[in-house]
Amino acid sequence: MPTLDTGHVPASDALFARARAVTPGGVNSPVRAFNAVGGTPRFIREAKGPWLTDVDGNRYVDLICSWGPMLLGHAHPEVQAAVQAAVARGTSYGTPTEPEVELAEAIVRRTPVEEVRFVSSGTEATMSAIRLARGFTGRDVVIKFAGCYHGHVDALLASAGSGLATFAVPGTPGVPASSTELTLVLPYNDRSAVDKAFEEYGDRIACLITEAAPGNMGVVPPADGFNGFLADICRRHGALFISDEVMTGFRASREGAWGLDGRPEGWTPDLMTFGKVMGGGFPAAAFGGRADIMQRLSPVGPVYQAGTLSGNPVATTAGLATLRLATDEVYAHIGAAADTVKSAASEALTAAGVPHVVQSVGTMFSIFLTEQPVADFAGASTTDVAAYAAFFHAMLGRGVYLPPSAYEAWFLSSAHDDEAVDTILAALPDAAQAAAAA
Ligand code: PMP
Repeated sequence: MPTLDTGHVPASDALFARARAVTPGGVNSPVRAFNAVGGTPRFIREAKGPWLTDVDGNRYVDLICSWGPMLLGHAHPEVQAAVQAAVARGTSYGTPTEPEVELAEAIVRRTPVEEVRFVSSGTEATMSAIRLARGFTGRDVVIKFAGCYHGHVDALLASAGSGLATFAVPGTPGVPASSTELTLVLPYNDRSAVDKAFEEYGDRIACLITEAAPGNMGVVPPADGFNGFLADICRRHGALFISDEVMTGFRASREGAWGLDGRPEGWTPDLMTFGKVMGGGFPAAAFGGRADIMQRLSPVGPVYQAGTLSGNPVATTAGLATLRLATDEVYAHIGAAADTVKSAASEALTAAGVPHVVQSVGTMFSIFLTEQPVADFAGASTTDVAAYAAFFHAMLGRGVYLPPSAYEAWFLSSAHDDEAVDTILAALPDAAQAAAAA
């Protein structure tokens, strides 16, 4: 890999050195460090609309959008006003509040869930949904797909065991084998692997959890009918189908990924998980689903689940303001901006002779630097990470902050206007040349 131009950013460099002295890797979530691309992560001082400003005063068009939440861009005036008013009323009471009810109603209106429970992170949402599924079914086995990320839940930080339909092994030190020995990890989009797992363990399977449309190995659309097939096979075996929409919820479309295939095909998940957009940039997430399942939760049912800051009034106010403003026009705008960026990126990469594949789910997309369409984790792993690192740094140097990893969705917002999109388009040809030279 040639030496990358990682930019002259003395203030970020200095903060990064201080951060590394007191925080592992200098970051509070690993992908924020530039480990996959090299160099210094930019420390952001402020953000407005589609723009990030770092502590050195550099401006970037933001294609991370906080890894999904900022559907309306940064510091949206109406969201900000709602949040400021909420803060003025006090920040946490540990009692029920009105904004929680309103946000729950907004989620119930947009999705097939009948009841929701709020938590503070996507990890808590999937962890709690799995506990509830196990409590409801009285069974223990969980199926997940390789390349789908559901947060850092012990049982889900698992890698496939050797051979199809054998139990998983821990995906990281610190997870005991006993936490993954009831997890089956299958290849995504592979119906026969799912059939085989249900054939072998059908009466032990509590739930199957999947990203409604994976975005955590880059965007990998479910094959036609795949989610419907999963819902059906779970139903036939008395297992619950958990659709994780932490990333896609209220982002891939107004009704999330479910609005793209669930509603049209006529299936509904038993449980769903949400986060990111529904928290409007605050720590808020949720799980929800069929009323008879949700009624098994404490305090009405026996399955325990709780949280000091769950349903926090500031966070739920931010989420509610965001969902109220997330109109059809917002999704149309993001979709159109995404189309413009996708085709310009593809043109630039083609002109530079860089093999690539553009994949989308609704308004979400990513660009894999590889030869073949990507259907699963093995396919995603063929992406050329050195070429992506060069592409990433060329974009950054031209004022565009992409995700610092080749396996991520690129996120846009309704605030990405012509100036922001033009900045991206202007940077692409040089970045494509940099990728070609890597
Ligand atoms: N599920 C999915 C699909 C996600 O994308 C994420 C976060 N990227 C999570 C769960 C975990 O959410 P959090 O980071 O809020 O714990």
